[in-house]
Amino acid sequence: MASYRRTRMICTLGPACDNDPTLEGLLAAGMDVARLNLSHGTHDEHRARLRRLRRLAQRRRRPLATLLDLQGPKIRVLGLQAEGWQLAAGDRLTLVGAGVSDPSAQRLAVSHAALAQDVAVGQSILLDDGKLRLEVVEKTHLALEAVVQVGGRLLPRKGVNFPEALLSLPALTEKDREDVRLAVELDVDYIALSFVQRPEDLQDLRACLAALGSALPIIAKIEKPQAVTAIDQILVEADGIMVARGDLGVEMPAEEVPLVQKRLIKKALEAGVPVITATQMLESMVDSPTPTRAEASDVANAVLDGTDAVMLSGETASGAYPVAAAETMARMAQLAEEALPPGWAGRNRPREQSGNSEHAVAEAACRVAEQLDAKAIFCLTSSGATLRQLSRLRPKTPLIALTATDAIRRRSALLWGVRALPTEPAMARDIDGAVLGELLRLRATGILASGDTVVVTAALPFGQGDHTNMLRIERVP
Ligand code: PEP
Repeated sequence: MASYRRTRMICTLGPACDNDPTLEGLLAAGMDVARLNLSHGTHDEHRARLRRLRRLAQRRRRPLATLLDLQGPKIRVLGLQAEGWQLAAGDRLTLVGAGVSDPSAQRLAVSHAALAQDVAVGQSILLDDGKLRLEVVEKTHLALEAVVQVGGRLLPRKGVNFPEALLSLPALTEKDREDVRLAVELDVDYIALSFVQRPEDLQDLRACLAALGSALPIIAKIEKPQAVTAIDQILVEADGIMVARGDLGVEMPAEEVPLVQKRLIKKALEAGVPVITATQMLESMVDSPTPTRAEASDVANAVLDGTDAVMLSGETASGAYPVAAAETMARMAQLAEEALPPGWAGRNRPREQSGNSEHAVAEAACRVAEQLDAKAIFCLTSSGATLRQLSRLRPKTPLIALTATDAIRRRSALLWGVRALPTEPAMARDIDGAVLGELLRLRATGILASGDTVVVTAALPFGQGDHTNMLRIERVP
């Protein structure tokens, strides 16, 4: 079987890809997941982008997943005039949780009403992605008194971060709730929740989806230190996580981000939850046709850490070289993953985590495939559960998903190493015939050859079996 890239690539769509040639270029470069970032753009813009992409993607056999990323409760500066406010180190100001900012009265208004309850004296406040820093020196029941530690010009609508405080923010704002409706309307494959602080935030989104009749898988964006601390509980609730290094690098010292990234990826692998590494991976390619050496190292490191997917943000959404960025990232990821030793991912999970048949069969399938030098592992799946376990084990053997369910086929585009084949709905009735049919089809296309060994897993009866209970060794006729 020809070599293929196992690490998945996510491209954020934006104004830079509002034309057929660019979208065709991203698809040809190997985009696995298209991300709609609801921090920008109108619903109509996102609808039009997705409609165009789906029309173009239809012509290809490779599945493409879509991810809608909610803005979340981002706190911003309120009511500052266009010229902004020049803050100097040592200035003292009053922060309030509503109203408008007024430099002449030394008043800074931000969009978080419970400010004075949530933030303690001695804690820091970061403005504009951490470019300006304040420290809280006093508080009343409605306001904070703060002194500027690092000054600069503060412009309207800039973001505000409170890295040390657990904020009593709702998991979902009113805008997010409208955007969740859009996700359901557009039938996307994943939804991402920003600024997760605790596992309950994910439950709130799940309840909101359920009220709309949806069970969309949820990606928890890890961008607050509180989420890093609560990662074990978050991994129980989440269907995937994103190491959202943009805000993470504001909320904690930038030098800690690479180590946190490694820890989060390791935890996600152990938990069997897909993990995305995001933000500034090829940032210089927003303006330049080639990446920096440091960016090449960054992408390779994320791959070697074991990430399922690497993500492009501004590079494809608003950059000058969206297709070149995607082609570059695809090449970098494929080259780096060739350096991964076989069986490197956490086999032999602790017993308390591995007491399910999906895990047991997946682990056995990987070992059998390696020992017999099988050309592929076929995973016949209707829920995707065994597929996730197989992917988590990062087998050297190509992993092929056979499913009659379109949503599972599309979602598999986020999972490390999975190639999903379109199958006939007849598979549900005749499993032997379906496997044989696929073997013959892959032989005809030259992907498999007569005599090749293939390992097959399934939950039988197909489409009704709750647990994976079949492991078979097949030979291509
Ligand atoms: C991030 O902060 O790294 C991130 C991915 O979130 P956003 O792009 O929504 O700011």
